[in-house]
Amino acid sequence: MADSKKKILIVEDEKNIAQVLAFNLMQAGYDYEIASDGEEGLRKALKGNFDLILLDIMLPKMDGFTVCRGIRMRMDTPIIMVTAKEEDVDKILGLDLGADDYVTKPFSINVLLARIKANLRRSANEVVTGDSKSDTVLKIRDLVIDNEKYQVTKAGVMIALSKIEYDLLSFLAANQGKPFKREELLESVWGYKEFFGDKRTVDVTVSRLRNKIEADPTHPEYIFSKHGYGYYLA
Ligand code: CA
Repeated sequence: MADSKKKILIVEDEKNIAQVLAFNLMQAGYDYEIASDGEEGLRKALKGNFDLILLDIMLPKMDGFTVCRGIRMRMDTPIIMVTAKEEDVDKILGLDLGADDYVTKPFSINVLLARIKANLRRSANEVVTGDSKSDTVLKIRDLVIDNEKYQVTKAGVMIALSKIEYDLLSFLAANQGKPFKREELLESVWGYKEFFGDKRTVDVTVSRLRNKIEADPTHPEYIFSKHGYGYYLA
């Protein structure tokens, strides 16, 4: 049984927080390992075969942003950034770091566990991406979304998307023309069931996606905003 446990890496230099996290992860049925600085975090992440990584930002030796980039160059393991500073949230969202999610300190352990669960579920591709899931290749004018190869091309040119950008695009494309509220997207794409994530996550992911797929991101031709409601693809 122990082998089927999901293994989580906690990268956190504050001993008390690391221990509280470790205790709660253990209670929730996860295995864990702790790294107490950025370098150790990166080293362990790269060779540890973890299912998910909790990554603090303010760390000795190497900050969480650098660790995140370092991990992303090599692997897709879901990363949840943990931050105490509001400015960091903008940075996490704005930079294309490849982090999958973030929580802000102080966080409730239930919220964190829900986020962990959602990210593990998403990484296992268990999130249903709309009614037309059987359509493995979706074509919207120049844009081709190949759900079998997990590839997006525009006019034949490959577009590099992060996993969440891909999931969002694929979900909207599978439900073309139908507007979704941010809460609905957080639930369907991010996989948050009970605890809603930050709606800004949706806005910033949409904006990054537009920068990658739209000819002019300020006048989108694919992903539209429905004022006071949410987003749709047409
Ligand atoms: Ca810290």
